Amino acid sequence: MKKIMIIGGGAAGMTAAAAAAQNSRKANQKPEICILEHKDIVGKKILSTGNGRCNLTNEVMNSDCYYSECPQIIGQILDKFGREEALKFFQELGIVVKSKKGYYYPRSEQAAAVRELFQIHLEHLGVEVRTNVHVKSIKKAGVHS
Ligand SMILES: Cc1cc2nc3c(=O)[nH]c(=O)nc-3n(C[C@H](O)[C@H](O)[C@H](O)COP(=O)(O)OP(=O)(O)OC[C@H]3O[C@@H](n4cnc5c(N)ncnc54)[C@H](O)[C@@H]3O)c2cc1C
Repeated sequence: MKKIMIIGGGAAGMTAAAAAAQNSRKANQKPEICILEHKDIVGKKILSTGNGRCNLTNEVMNSDCYYSECPQIIGQILDKFGREEALKFFQELGIVVKSKKGYYYPRSEQAAAVRELFQIHLEHLGVEVRTNVHVKSIKKAGVHS
């Protein structure tokens, strides 16, 4: 059983933790995943997104929408996880999505609801969340198989 520690409980860290927990479950293993977050709650930045409404994804999603030194990588990422996958992901979290002029938002237009559903999802998957923890350094203590 691998123990996974994720530093930073933003959108990326929470999504990674949820994916790892789901993979553990598929392998019939108890997830041992912990998020270390130095703010008082996980997903705090989500609260400011889309002017507090959280723009979940967009009708037009391609590599031209991103700045990158390597746009082909953006294309490869979006081929694997584009608009449809994002919408499915949010719907599985329990978010009812609506479209407005090509922008997708939660029907409630409340970024706080998105953050909260992320947190509930992590609890449901058995991910441990430790807040007010600031990671200063990482040391390799040994290699486990
Ligand atoms: C004003 C604004 C509006 C936005 N609107 C939208 C929008 O509508 N739609 C959209 O898709 N995107 C939007 N974005 C972008 C979106 O917020 C980011 O892309 C997203 O939050 C990035 O998530 P992340 O997990 O990579 O990083 P973060 O959300 O920054 O998460 C990183 C986490 O790591 C924690 N952390 C950092 N260092 C440490 C440490 N040493 N120890 C412990 N914890 C640590 C931080 O506290 C933080 O919680 C917006 C951004 C801003 C600023």
